[in-house]
Amino acid sequence: MTRLVPHEPPGAGLADRFGRVATDLRVSLTDKCNLRCTYCMPAEGLDWLPNPALLTDAEVVRLIDVAVHRLGVTDVRFTGGEPLLRRGLTEIVRAVAALPGRPRMMLTTNGIGLARLAAPLAEAGLDRVNVSLDTTDPARFKAITRRDRHADVVAGLAASADAGLLPVKMNAVLLRGINDDEAVPLLDFALTHGYELRFIEQMPLDAGHTWRREEMITGEEILAALRTRYTLEPDPSTRGGAPAETWVVDGGPVKVGVIASVSSPFCGACDRTRLTADGAVRSCLFSQDETDLRGALRAGATDEELADLWRKAMWAKPAGHGIDDPKFLQPARPMSAIGG
Ligand code: SAM
Ligand code: SF4
Repeated sequence: MTRLVPHEPPGAGLADRFGRVATDLRVSLTDKCNLRCTYCMPAEGLDWLPNPALLTDAEVVRLIDVAVHRLGVTDVRFTGGEPLLRRGLTEIVRAVAALPGRPRMMLTTNGIGLARLAAPLAEAGLDRVNVSLDTTDPARFKAITRRDRHADVVAGLAASADAGLLPVKMNAVLLRGINDDEAVPLLDFALTHGYELRFIEQMPLDAGHTWRREEMITGEEILAALRTRYTLEPDPSTRGGAPAETWVVDGGPVKVGVIASVSSPFCGACDRTRLTADGAVRSCLFSQDETDLRGALRAGATDEELADLWRKAMWAKPAGHGIDDPKFLQPARPMSAIGG
């Protein structure tokens, strides 16, 4: 029997036709980056968005305010591109922290510049960071990111812990034949320093469209590698909308996460909504459609009109990413331009 669904989103929050409600907002603050990770960007970079296309700091804060006060968003994660390249980042964080009913605020970053910025960001109101680091080896780091900046990332992680941005989380992508022997060394590194590590399966979101499923290191492979050194028990605390399946390491309290977006999709529990640096709402990393809010905002739309556009965009959220569908099409924007 076909389930009848209304054509318009009901209620005040960011509901979709499949019963999910988005409360977690990812805000891309720039599509630019100072690294060139091979699985994300080509060596020469991309055609960056022109400055007038980018939301201003005040526009970013206004849209976050709309999301929090009219749409029920409780968590805001700044990302990019590389969000630490956004000059106004600390002031954006401070302004969002001053909103009544402030959301939790997180940052996903490659860590370059964090040694200098972790303390001011914490002081401005940032709650936590996820720092991406795919290898413990500086030479491999250079091969993967095409930049010799391993030490800067390690210093950024340490500064985040010193600044109280706890727990400091680390994200790692394993690539076949490049760093696929690093599951254990990366967990050793994270345990030594007290960071919470999460592995992410490589997704078809690279600008070069080079992703091949058979080359992807699966969550199962990562767990098998970790089990050669550690015992892993399923984490009894619930997963909710969180993408990482977590495991308790050697009896705890430390945990390790695996985000198996491709081999074990969690779309049914997804609670994400996304805002690109040029002001488009995306209901999913993989959606083909997006809804421009910048045009309406600059044409003088009220908060409620903006909220209404956002609700409609989320109502159309697809059921899942469809990577396994033979008709799957990679979205036109790469991960770095959507906000990872
Ligand atoms: N530049 C920041 C960083 O690297 O953390 C934020 C943006 S980046 C797009 C966010 C996360 O997406 C990083 O942890 C990165 O490793 C991950 N990522 C990038 N491309 C990916 C891909 N094709 N598949 C899976 N993860 C990817
Ligand atoms: Fe930059 Fe992050 Fe993409 Fe690496 S993964 S190129 S750091 S945006």
